[in-house]
Amino acid sequence: MPMITARRNLLAAASCTVLYAAHRRKRAICEGAELRRAPSDASARATRATSLLRLAEQEAAEAAAALAAETAAQTADAPSDVLVVGGGIVGASVAFHASRLGARVTLLEKASCGCEASGLSAGTLYDVGVPERVDASSAALYLRAGSASILEALGGCEFNRCGALDVAATPPEVKLLRQDFEAARSAGLQCSWHEAAEVHALEPALAGGSALAAVHTPRSGSVQPGLATLAFVEGAVAAGCAVREGAEVVSLRRTEAGLYEALTSEGDRLLAKQVVLAAGAWSAKVARSVGVHVPCVPVKGVVATLPAEPNALSKVIFDMESRACFAAEGDGRDDEMPAKCTHDRRGERRCRKLYGKQCGEADNHQLLFGGDRLLPDSDSDYAVPSASRLSVREHVLELLPKFRDFGPARAVEAGGGEWAGLMPFAHDGKPIVGELSRLGLDGLWLCCGFGPAGIMEGPKAAQVLAELVVEDVLHTTPRPRTRVAMADAESGGDDARWARVAMAWMDPCRAGCCVASEV
Ligand SMILES: Cc1cc2nc3c(=O)[nH]c(=O)nc-3n(C[C@H](O)[C@H](O)[C@H](O)COP(=O)(O)OP(=O)(O)OC[C@H]3O[C@@H](n4cnc5c(N)ncnc54)[C@H](O)[C@@H]3O)c2cc1C
Repeated sequence: MPMITARRNLLAAASCTVLYAAHRRKRAICEGAELRRAPSDASARATRATSLLRLAEQEAAEAAAALAAETAAQTADAPSDVLVVGGGIVGASVAFHASRLGARVTLLEKASCGCEASGLSAGTLYDVGVPERVDASSAALYLRAGSASILEALGGCEFNRCGALDVAATPPEVKLLRQDFEAARSAGLQCSWHEAAEVHALEPALAGGSALAAVHTPRSGSVQPGLATLAFVEGAVAAGCAVREGAEVVSLRRTEAGLYEALTSEGDRLLAKQVVLAAGAWSAKVARSVGVHVPCVPVKGVVATLPAEPNALSKVIFDMESRACFAAEGDGRDDEMPAKCTHDRRGERRCRKLYGKQCGEADNHQLLFGGDRLLPDSDSDYAVPSASRLSVREHVLELLPKFRDFGPARAVEAGGGEWAGLMPFAHDGKPIVGELSRLGLDGLWLCCGFGPAGIMEGPKAAQVLAELVVEDVLHTTPRPRTRVAMADAESGGDDARWARVAMAWMDPCRAGCCVASEV
């Protein structure tokens, strides 16, 4: 590897790690939420950052100057093969895979990698495998199983297949869960049914609570989402990707030569053959500059934590209340509201929601419970509504009375906390992934709209997308624009068939999704 690239990689890796931690601390302090999860304390992370820093320290100034010169040169003459906008888990995964496939990739992140939804996420994973029959209705299961495998292989992110329980606490929830379970069992998915007594044996923390029955999914689990994002960034950098943090893309433009030009808030103009827009809840804002309306809005997700000893909770817990509500009353979407929020557009509660896990060492083993999903006041509204805080507490006490200490007063006293992050919710609840060629924008790809499931679905979607993008950019002969046909259904094997079906399911130009708009 040329010296300059090695130095640049080192510098970028070190700065990512350190900036990310610094950003998290800054936000915590700014918002008075100093009790947020603090991955900067994680020993694994600290060790990694320290060694990278030590190595980078001596040459940092020289490397920074060289990097600036290199970037300037690149801006002037050599376009990147692929420019990725957004350094959350989705953009970082795209950059990781595209770089490893041999493309020259630049990743632009407006603040620091992993600082938004990806770093603020709970990091629960759901994996039941895939049914034998390749079918669009199971595309999400394909993404979830594939993402879990990718994260497991990635390492350095506290991947843990501890298993999960979908818990029903009322007779209607039991009925719905049983229906879902029967369908899953006949499709050959990996799950088992348990009545209350067995549930308590599987997860002692549920004893004495309202659980009536549960479905156990042993392949599910969790990951530390901030570490996972950084592991993708570091892997991308190691494969030659240039990462620029603090570089907000304010607009995109197609040049006469058929390239894309990204204008940053610093006034830099970067050229690329292909662009992947993976800016999470801010993707629609950037897409507007090229005349595309992307139906993806920020939805606030709320999380609360409580300090705990290791092994206080052995499984990931998903409640059924919101699922039962959406099944009975509809998913709540209207012109303004995306699907599957806990509140309507006026902010009135439709249902409660609860999911929880015990974190790993990086987060001092704290218990983490997520709840409401509601519209924020703006795309920078991170305030935790007091009603959301109370709802989580009330719900935890019903389901897991063992954690009676869980609650704002005790949590603060004991070093727990709460935070909100902005999830990129697509209007119809499906991710928005693929090329905008049908809107005349060949080479512009979207990878956003993963809503509440970007950690468990994003890495696999990003891998499939990266393969398509790289195939496009590194092939000298343009291939036919039926890109969803990335693999021949007859010859590509199961994974290729699933990938093709998943790409069609996430198609950005599907009915009711992206359309041309005023620039
Ligand atoms: C509280 C909470 C709990 C969650 N729990 C889970 C869970 O248990 N399991 C799960 O699977 N998912 C969960 N999610 C959802 C998951 O975190 C998201 O779906 C996922 O992180 C989205 O990743 P992303 O990369 O698309 O977006 P983000 O992580 O938001 O990344 C987008 C990045 O783009 C950057 N950016 C924005 N605009 C620009 C621009 N103009 N130029 C350059 N950069 C830009 C941002 O700074 C940001 O870093 C949760 C989310 C929250 C908030």
